[in-house]
Amino acid sequence: SDGFKKRKIAVLGARSVGKTSLVKQFVENHFVDAYYPTIDNSVSKKVRHAGVEWDLEVFDTAGQDEFSIFNAKHAIGIHGYVLVYSIAAQGSFDMIQIIYDKIVDFCGLKDIPCIIVGSKLDLEERRQISSTTARALAEQCNSAWIETSAKNNVNVGKVFELCLAEIDKRAVPSSPA
Ligand code: GDP
Repeated sequence: SDGFKKRKIAVLGARSVGKTSLVKQFVENHFVDAYYPTIDNSVSKKVRHAGVEWDLEVFDTAGQDEFSIFNAKHAIGIHGYVLVYSIAAQGSFDMIQIIYDKIVDFCGLKDIPCIIVGSKLDLEERRQISSTTARALAEQCNSAWIETSAKNNVNVGKVFELCLAEIDKRAVPSSPA
């Protein structure tokens, strides 16, 4: 072992909510103001959380809509989920519950390690989803919640820290090696 614990995190949500921008800002520390639709893409980054070095593999997905059939690739071997909506797009928020239900269904669990992320916080003047509404959904899903701006680099690292915390909470202590 290289001393790093590996965790795999999938980023899901409607198209163009800023999933790729969030992942790029997290891993490469920059923001690109252009839209290139993503095909599933995996990147990794080492982070320190709770005194431990983690080797995160972040799986940036192409984006889902209400008609998407749940892709097994988006759940098998995944430890935690980042579910992204845009605070300026009601439809993208409606997708969160749909995606959440699909994951829970697929995994056969009543609860998954998950953080719900309101993106594009810099578009405050176009906000459609209040923090109260979003928080209520997160509570109902027993998940963490945060608002971010990949553009202004607000709360980007925090997303993945909180996701790790959600994974940790449910982790079964491993036996000593
Ligand atoms: P994805 O399809 O969910 O991966 O979305 P992208 O990351 O490709 O972003 C879609 C569009 O939203 C692009 O034009 C981005 O520049 C823009 N975008 C992404 N994040 C932000 C943000 O934090 N603020 C603003 N204003 N625009 C953003």
